[in-house]
Amino acid sequence: MTEHNDYSWSIDDAEELYGVKRWGAGYFSIGENGNIKIAPNHRLPDVTIDMKEVVDEIIAEGIQLPAVIRFHDILRSQVEILNETFQQTIEQADYQGKYTGVFPIKVNQMREVVEEIIDAGEPYNYGLEAGSKPELMAVMAYNENPEALTILNGYKDEDYLTLALLGRNLQRKMIIVIEKYSELEMLIPLARKYNVEPMIGLRSKMMVKSTGKWSGSSGDRAKFGLSIAEILNIVERLRQEDMLHCAKLLHFHIGSQLSDIRKIKEAVSEGARLYAKLVQMGVPLEYLDIGGGLGIDYDGTSSTTDSSRNYSTDEYVADVVWGVKQVCDLEKVPHPNLVSESGRAITAHHSCVVTNIVGEVKPSSVDYDISPEDGEHILVSNMRELVSAEELHPQERYNDAASNKASAYEAFKFGILSLPEMAKIDTMYWQILSDIHADLDKDSYIIQELEELEDMLASQYLCNFSIFQSAADTWAIGQVLPIVPISRLEEQPQVRCSIADITCDSDGKLSKYIEGTEISDNIPMHTLKKGEEYHVGMFLTGAYQDVMGDMHNLFGRLTEVHVYCHDDEPGDFYIEEVVPGTSAEKVLETMQYNTDFMAKTVKKSIDRQVRKGSLAPREGVRWTDFYEKCLAGSTYLKV
Ligand SMILES: *Cc1c(COP(=O)(O)O)cnc(C)c1O
Repeated sequence: MTEHNDYSWSIDDAEELYGVKRWGAGYFSIGENGNIKIAPNHRLPDVTIDMKEVVDEIIAEGIQLPAVIRFHDILRSQVEILNETFQQTIEQADYQGKYTGVFPIKVNQMREVVEEIIDAGEPYNYGLEAGSKPELMAVMAYNENPEALTILNGYKDEDYLTLALLGRNLQRKMIIVIEKYSELEMLIPLARKYNVEPMIGLRSKMMVKSTGKWSGSSGDRAKFGLSIAEILNIVERLRQEDMLHCAKLLHFHIGSQLSDIRKIKEAVSEGARLYAKLVQMGVPLEYLDIGGGLGIDYDGTSSTTDSSRNYSTDEYVADVVWGVKQVCDLEKVPHPNLVSESGRAITAHHSCVVTNIVGEVKPSSVDYDISPEDGEHILVSNMRELVSAEELHPQERYNDAASNKASAYEAFKFGILSLPEMAKIDTMYWQILSDIHADLDKDSYIIQELEELEDMLASQYLCNFSIFQSAADTWAIGQVLPIVPISRLEEQPQVRCSIADITCDSDGKLSKYIEGTEISDNIPMHTLKKGEEYHVGMFLTGAYQDVMGDMHNLFGRLTEVHVYCHDDEPGDFYIEEVVPGTSAEKVLETMQYNTDFMAKTVKKSIDRQVRKGSLAPREGVRWTDFYEKCLAGSTYLKV
């Protein structure tokens, strides 16, 4: 398209199209210069980082894309916002308990992430949650604050419980949450054997049924948790053992990414009622743990779609604090300390994947000579007539082209059309389709069948990353993640495309894109310029996506770049650390390959060719070195 289309385009249009502020939660926006702008510290909204400058610096340091960029200040900001919102609401509501939240490390177990969260959470006694033995071992080493909670969920064996008892010996507030009755039967003798008084939590299987992808976390058939009858049996058993004073916490978790605030209110009132009734029965509970589930507005629609939420963090916290207070006041029991296990909401914003587009696959792009030849088949001449038949109604022209192409395919199968004739027909067919598309008046009524032209003509931009490694949930559960060019946003994007990854899996593409307030099958991007890299960012990958990646096609972990903001630095940021991605060698070794053996075997074959005289000795050495260099190198494409 031509330049004159650009006259009215502004960054406001780009904002409207990609919805950066809608999903950006105050951290992301588009700068005056058309680059993505980040304000990572919620206390210093005027200190901003130009994302293109970060990427330029990464590349200048010789780091190969794709890379995960972590904004540690965003992580700290999210910890502060959640804790302070609870503190302020508790004060306003004259609520008598405290807020002592925990971060569930399964959402992002990266050591640097956990360390940053612990550090930012120190003033609030913010703790950690573990759901497995290795996670427990990690939280034991990293949560040393005697005032902060360590909550232990998930199924447990004797080693898990024994480690938790060790935690009690270290004076930590480690709470073993009982998921099934049999865990209690295992715990009681262990506590006696080591002479340690455990802190016990009870996980309730809630009656409220959450909606969305994680609805299986609640309701009668939930995998985790105790029914009311089981809870009462446990209370009885603890009483018999003279251990009822160990029961400190009531826990529930009705699912992740709760999109509808009404379900949260319902769960809070059910949980608070259960807490109150248990306290009235003499169970000395001190904490009510409402689990995770605080959602993220991935698609920027503020709605109840699976990738959004219809409430703010303020509203969530208000509903929890006021909801629990109301029930407790009615039931005349003390207000419990409140615990929440928000994971997604703490980490999602802080990291993103930056990568480059390495190519374009266009259905209509082949440049092939279509000039007429003597004695060519009538199907070829028919198609040529349609190429110039601009006077035809677009629908008729489209139908004729499609049926002509179908006949040509049949004719080819019978050996009637030659390869060059097929190539011409194909080239002309796509040319007709793009002509029809270009002439369509976008604002007028479009005939249904022509609507699919948009999809048929969309390009695929090949993106240097693996969906399975970096955006597992987009593939597994249809999660929408924002993907936006990190610069050129002052320019109108002219190419409709979908984003495909470099795995050789046809599932390896993004299929849902944010386009304004709608979700689209493809997305407008800018034309690729020769000799200029086109960088895109996939955002909100800090929760689950960062750590769930798999080894499909043996693309391993990405290089990581840790960015801190600092207003004394040029560009208000500095790169604190670069963690190299997994090398080809390392990835192969996890699949049990012996890469020394591989290198030796390849070298032997090369040497054999050298002895035979088919390779010069110098060349042989060069090839051997090259193979070894590739083993040590990155698994992604070098551009
Ligand atoms: C996964 C999980 C969480 C975290 O949920 P988010 O939706 O990420 O906040 C919290 N608690 C338990 C028990 C979980 O299983």
